Amino acid sequence: MSQSSLVKFVRDIYQTNEFIPLHAPIFNGNEQKYVLETIQSTFVSSVGKFVDQFEQKIESYTGTAKAVATVNGTAALHAALYMAGVKPGDFVITQALTFVATCNALHHMGAVPIFVDVSPVSLGLCPKAMDEFLEQHAQLTDSGCIHKTTKRPIRAVVPMHTFGHPVELDELIAVCLKWNIVLVEDAAESLGSFYKGKHTGTLGDFGAVSFNGNKVITTGGGGMVLCKSLTSGARTKHVTTTAKVPHPYEFYHDEAGFNYRMPNLNAALGCAQMEVLEDYLVQKRALANHYSEFFAKSDYQFVLEPEYAQSNYWLNAIICPSAQVRDELLKKTNDAGVMTRPIWQLMHRLPMFCDAPRGELTQSEHIEARLINLPSTPRDIK
Ligand SMILES: *Cc1c(COP(=O)(O)O)cnc(C)c1O
Repeated sequence: MSQSSLVKFVRDIYQTNEFIPLHAPIFNGNEQKYVLETIQSTFVSSVGKFVDQFEQKIESYTGTAKAVATVNGTAALHAALYMAGVKPGDFVITQALTFVATCNALHHMGAVPIFVDVSPVSLGLCPKAMDEFLEQHAQLTDSGCIHKTTKRPIRAVVPMHTFGHPVELDELIAVCLKWNIVLVEDAAESLGSFYKGKHTGTLGDFGAVSFNGNKVITTGGGGMVLCKSLTSGARTKHVTTTAKVPHPYEFYHDEAGFNYRMPNLNAALGCAQMEVLEDYLVQKRALANHYSEFFAKSDYQFVLEPEYAQSNYWLNAIICPSAQVRDELLKKTNDAGVMTRPIWQLMHRLPMFCDAPRGELTQSEHIEARLINLPSTPRDIK
């Protein structure tokens, strides 16, 4: 494969000579109609029928017991960690290969990340790497899993379904049970991705979804906490709604809550976007198939969904044969107006997380140096 043939290939798919972004939102359903309706009704803020409808749509699509809409995905993850019982000073295991929001959310909770490696199959948290870290550094006590040298609790694990590809959840759940660790899934990138038929974000105690502008569907900004039970769902709604005890006019709050409610204005967009989600997913799969064929006989490895899963193919990705080839391809494509992007810098290289404990990160480093994301907007893909 020559690098200019990739530019031509992407331009042929999108049939344009203009700039091609990595992932752009599309609004050609009922978006305008529903948003206008909220304005005309004056219910633009945190109460309104679209919030309830959007939560119900996500509940029936993902099969979660209760979905709670929030202002963004980071807030959803923060609330999920709070609900999962993460306390200031706790350790929370996660992957170094993730978007910074995963670590920011646990930092806001007062927790400290422990970084473990990712699996080459999913690009997400590797259950074996987690177990190995724990075998070396943790110990099970009556009160749960603790870090041997600091004696601090290792409370939870937050795997992230990278680019929509589900992590090995059965194996991960087994490690969680073995070590008495709570599972909170960062499903920000994986709306529409299923693990053995179950929607990502519904296997852990809590899951967090994002509807940022670059995600599979968008509400402008927005997120959703997926809760495993009606009880935990009701409490999540309560704490994300300033923990106000319902009363016709009195203000009484029974704990220090969050104001993380999604405005009705954004939920209106979300309801319209849910109507076209299936269509986007079909197109994203078709696009992934095109890329997969294009790279089939090259020395670039197109990242395929794991065999146990159905991915939403949120962002298509290739692993280049070397970091040097990666750099050349990034320059060539971006210079030609076709946006491509390297993966995030590993979290332990960022100043605020550089002191966090970590295991071996061989796979993460290999991927970090070679991966490129390709244009993935699900527009007019045949
Ligand atoms: C997008 C994203 C989030 C949440 O993002 P928001 O912009 O706050 O909605 C969290 N984690 C990952 C991995 C993400 O990609």
